[in-house]
Amino acid sequence: MALRGRCGRGGTWVVTQGWRGGASRGSRVLVSQPAGVWPWLSMAPQGWGYWRWAARPRALLLPGAAFPFGFRQLFSTLELAPHICVVGSGPAGFYTAQHLLKHHPQAQVDIYEKQLVPFGLVRFGVAPDHPEVKNVINTFTQTAYSPRCAFRGNVTVGRDVSVSELQEAYHAVVLSYGAEDHRTLGIPGEELPGVISARDFVGWYNGLPENRKLAPNLNCDTALILGQGNVALDVARILLTPTELLEKTDITAEALKVLKQSQVQRVWIVGRRGPLQAAFTIKELREMINLPGSQPLLDPTDFSGLEELIKEAPRPRKRLLELLVRTALKPPEAKGADRRAETPRTWGLRFLRSPQKVLASPDGGRVAGIRLDVMRLEGSGENAQAVPTGAVEDVPCGLVLSSVGYKSHPIDPTVPFDPKLGIIPNSEGRVLGAPGLYCSGWVKRGPTGVIATTMNDSFLTGQALLQDLEEGVLPLGPKLGYAIIEPLLKNRGHGANGLGRTGGKSIGNKGEWERRET
Ligand SMILES: Cc1cc2nc3c(=O)[nH]c(=O)nc-3n(C[C@H](O)[C@H](O)[C@H](O)COP(=O)(O)OP(=O)(O)OC[C@H]3O[C@@H](n4cnc5c(N)ncnc54)[C@H](O)[C@@H]3O)c2cc1C
Repeated sequence: MALRGRCGRGGTWVVTQGWRGGASRGSRVLVSQPAGVWPWLSMAPQGWGYWRWAARPRALLLPGAAFPFGFRQLFSTLELAPHICVVGSGPAGFYTAQHLLKHHPQAQVDIYEKQLVPFGLVRFGVAPDHPEVKNVINTFTQTAYSPRCAFRGNVTVGRDVSVSELQEAYHAVVLSYGAEDHRTLGIPGEELPGVISARDFVGWYNGLPENRKLAPNLNCDTALILGQGNVALDVARILLTPTELLEKTDITAEALKVLKQSQVQRVWIVGRRGPLQAAFTIKELREMINLPGSQPLLDPTDFSGLEELIKEAPRPRKRLLELLVRTALKPPEAKGADRRAETPRTWGLRFLRSPQKVLASPDGGRVAGIRLDVMRLEGSGENAQAVPTGAVEDVPCGLVLSSVGYKSHPIDPTVPFDPKLGIIPNSEGRVLGAPGLYCSGWVKRGPTGVIATTMNDSFLTGQALLQDLEEGVLPLGPKLGYAIIEPLLKNRGHGANGLGRTGGKSIGNKGEWERRET
C-alpha cells in the first residue's frame, strides 16, 4: 500500500520506496507543491468549479528527498490508501468514484478521460434542450471536489497508456469507457454522402471535438431516421425545433448556424417493428407531439387491431400507446390546421419497415432516397420478430440518419471483451479472468439505459471493488498511482489534464473551448 498523509497547505505526500526501513538515502518521496508554484495555476479562469478541482496541487516526485521529520512521528500518522483508477468520466466513472470515495475514507481515485473535459454523454450526448438532465453534473462536480479525487483529462487509455500499465500503478482499475462506436446498417449505399450516424450528428450539435467538422447537409426537404429509440427522437426534435428556441439552449454556435439554414420540412422516424415494440419513452414522444411549428403524421391504420393488446400492456407502454392512438385519431383542429398552414414542418412514425438499400442521386454523388422492406411481425410483445413480407417501398429523402444503437469496442488487447454482446464480460462488475480489473456503465451491461440505470450499476461495481479490498483480494503493497503514470505520459509526449493543448483555460466552457480549438 502507498502511505499517504497531509503536509503543508493541504498538499499530499506519499512514502513510496523504503518505507519499512525508514527514509533511507535514495528513497523517493512524493511531496506536494504549494499552489503558487504551479506555473499554470495562475491561468485558471474563475468561476468554473471543476477547473479549480482539476488544477489543484498534486504530488510531485522528488528523487532522493528525505523526510523532513522523524520517521516514527511520521509513521504514526500514515494511512493506508488504496489507489484506484477509473477510466472514463461519464456517469459510470463518476458514480463509481462517488461510491468508492464515500465508502472508503482513504481511497484515492484518479479519473482518466480521453477528452479534455469530463462528463461523457451527459455533456456530448444528452440533448441541449434537456438542461434538467444535465443537472447531474452538479453531483459529479461535488465528487470531483473531493481532495481524494483527481481528473486526468486528455489521456486515451489503450493508446497513451495501457491498461496493464495502469494496473501496475494502481491497486484496482475500473473501466467505465462507455460505448463510443455506432452500429452500422450493413446495407448497400451506406457510405454515400448524406448518410450519417445519429451518434455523429448528436456529437456535432453537442460540440464533440471529433464531430465538429461533420457539416451535415440540411439542404433537403426530407430527412429519414432509422431507429425508434429516444436518440432518434432527440435527433428529430433538434432538426425540427424552431431555431429561436434552440438559441436558448447550449447547442453549439456552429450547429445553430447550420440549423438556421436548414431546408428540412419533414422527418420520418422508421422502425423495423410495430408500435408495441417502439423503444422511445412517453416524455420524448410528448415533446414531439407538442413541438411548436410541427405536426405529427401518424397513420391510424398502424394501430388498428391493437386495442386488446394495448389494454393488456404494462402501464408505461399502455400510456405511450394510448397517446400514440389519440394523436393518430385526432382530427386536425382548427387551430392545429392553421398552425399547419403557417408552419408546414411535419414528422411521422413509419412502422414495420427495414432498410434494404440507400438510393443514390442520378450522378451517384449523394443519397436521394431509401428502399425499405415492408415487414410483418412473428410472435408478439417485446420478443416479436420482424420478417420481410417481400414488398418494398422507396422513400425519397436527402438525409439518412442511422440511429440503430451505440457499441463498445475493446480498449486494449489485454482486457477480455465479448464482441458478440459488445461488453466486457464480468460478474457484478468484476472483469472475468482479470483480478483487480472492474467495469461499470455501458461497457459493463451494453449501451442501454438512462443515467439512473448507470448510477445503480456503477454503485454495484464500487461495492464489489470495496468488498474485494476488504477481503484482501486486491494486491497489497505500495502503488503510486499517477506518480508512476505521469512520467510515462510525459515521455510519450502527452499533456495530461488537457493542459498540453489548452493551457488550462476554460475547461468546461464548451463555447470558449470550441472557439479556441478552431
Ligand atoms: C444521444 C444520447 C442521449 C441521451 N440522453 C439521455 C437523457 O436525456 N437522460 C438520461 O438519463 N440518459 C440519457 N442517455 C443515456 C446516458 O447518457 C447513459 O446512460 C450514460 O451516459 C452511460 O454512461 P457511461 O459512463 O457508461 O458512458 P459515457 O457517458 O459514454 O462515458 C464514457 C466516458 O469514457 C471516455 N472514454 C472512452 N474511451 C476512453 C479511453 N480509451 N480512455 C479514456 N476515456 C475514454 C469517454 O470520452 C466518455 O467521457 C443518452 C444517451 C445518448 C447516447
